[in-house]
Amino acid sequence: MTAPLSPSAGRVALVGAGPGDAELITLKGARLLGQADAVVYDNLVGQGILELARPDAERVFVGKKAGHHTLPQEDICRLLVNLARAGKFVVRLKGGDPFVFGRGGEEIEALQAAGIPVEIVPGVTAALGAAAAFGFPLTHRDHAQSCVFVTGHLKDHSVELDWPALARPGQTLVIYMGVTGLDIISARLQAAGLPGGTPAALVYRATWPNQKIHRGTLATLPAVARDNQVKPPTLIVIGSVVGLMREPAAGAA
Ligand code: SAH
Repeated sequence: MTAPLSPSAGRVALVGAGPGDAELITLKGARLLGQADAVVYDNLVGQGILELARPDAERVFVGKKAGHHTLPQEDICRLLVNLARAGKFVVRLKGGDPFVFGRGGEEIEALQAAGIPVEIVPGVTAALGAAAAFGFPLTHRDHAQSCVFVTGHLKDHSVELDWPALARPGQTLVIYMGVTGLDIISARLQAAGLPGGTPAALVYRATWPNQKIHRGTLATLPAVARDNQVKPPTLIVIGSVVGLMREPAAGAA
């Protein structure tokens, strides 16, 4: 199954682009981007980051275009394998961190199965970008001893999570891809014992020029989302740390 490597064989670096702000990519990520023959990227990669690539580098967009779906994951994997087999150094650029809800694991498996060397460069995940952009800590000795990153979007569009574990006191919840499931998330967390008055926020496009935060409580958040027509990419942050946010914050609504 594993293809023999020739001296001219290509390779792939899976690079985290960070949450949006081009200055939040790592030095290593920026350096590899500047060396790449081909860059494969999607929607969540911030403005200005692609400018770090060589002008002659091939750029392949694999994200969602208006009215169209994202390229299926297996097609992306095949594309990476084919570019590398053509002898190219490929940077696969992903929003945030490649290994935090980024499907980086699936891409690595495909590349390894094809015998292609892969390197991983971490990135600042959206939760960290949101906390920094709006000035609330994710952990705090008096508020949260743990912080949980969880996906609100499951394969069959249901939201089946360990609600009692998520409703525990003294922790911050950061829910990725949760906007469409927000009604269920709010109701289930309250049913599992998390007080409806727990501070909560919706953070849209943290660290982008058009970033916005909408604050409320666990109970009011679904109405806040509707009233403000909140769309992805948005994080749901739940926990008393949200109440520590500095005021006024840029983009706060
Ligand atoms: N690998 C990425 C996450 C990809 S999943 C990371 O580490 O950040 C996509 C989800 O991430 C979005 O639906 C949204 O919930 C969240 N997200 C990504 N970038 C964001 C940003 N700048 N602001 C708010 N949420 C963001």
